[in-house]
Amino acid sequence: MSRLGKYVCALYICLAIVIGGFAAYFKVILSDPNNLIAQRYNAFFYGSYDNNLSNPQGKLVTTAPNYKKHGQVINIDSNLCIREEPNLDSYISYCLYEGMIFDILEKDNGWYKIKYEDIIGYANGDYIEEYDETPPNKVYDEIQSNSIFKKATPIEAELTAYCNCAICSEAWGSQTAMQTHTRVGVIAAPKDIPLGSKIYIPELKDYKEDRIFNVEDRGGAVVVKNDGTYIIDIWLPTHEQVNEFGRKKTIVYLME
Ligand SMILES: [Zn+2]
Repeated sequence: MSRLGKYVCALYICLAIVIGGFAAYFKVILSDPNNLIAQRYNAFFYGSYDNNLSNPQGKLVTTAPNYKKHGQVINIDSNLCIREEPNLDSYISYCLYEGMIFDILEKDNGWYKIKYEDIIGYANGDYIEEYDETPPNKVYDEIQSNSIFKKATPIEAELTAYCNCAICSEAWGSQTAMQTHTRVGVIAAPKDIPLGSKIYIPELKDYKEDRIFNVEDRGGAVVVKNDGTYIIDIWLPTHEQVNEFGRKKTIVYLME
């Protein structure tokens, strides 16, 4: 073999080693679902990466079921922050409250990498209890409704509904008795419940997630009936919904 031939041959071998090395490197990197390069690579080719600039760590929008454990927030006075990095100086992306549950992705030096809904970040392990299937403590919703019920007065009520239309509101339209505008969460209550009060209506979970309604309106038919039942008039966006709603007997809770 000529001298040139030997050089070319050696060059080919070197190239093969370098390319082979790169291929192996990327194979390892791209098979790790937690790796940022892998996230971007997969996002580029499969479109599952939420390119949110305020969050350089990124969020995987699709569920990556690579977790085994769940966690619950415990022993916290205010809230547990989800941070972008596992340290106290890192940017806070979200806050969790006592009893809330989430998935645990990783555990590292007293910090957990967690996933709550579509938010992924790090939380301080001191306030987390791990579990496999059922949350070991009361969950957030239960704690919330317990504290609401403790400080609330139950009232027997008959729920009706109204909208901004002329049939329901005459000329008042979107203006409430409190000079605010009607919106989801506004209700009219009899005069002995002060404007500005809040009423918890368990029955209306599908209409308003936290079930807390603001007394901002009055109405001619919104009275206490002879049998002591309070008429509570719920504002709805359309008259069609008002017709669908009809009347419902239920218990509501006047909050402190
Ligand atoms: Zn109407």
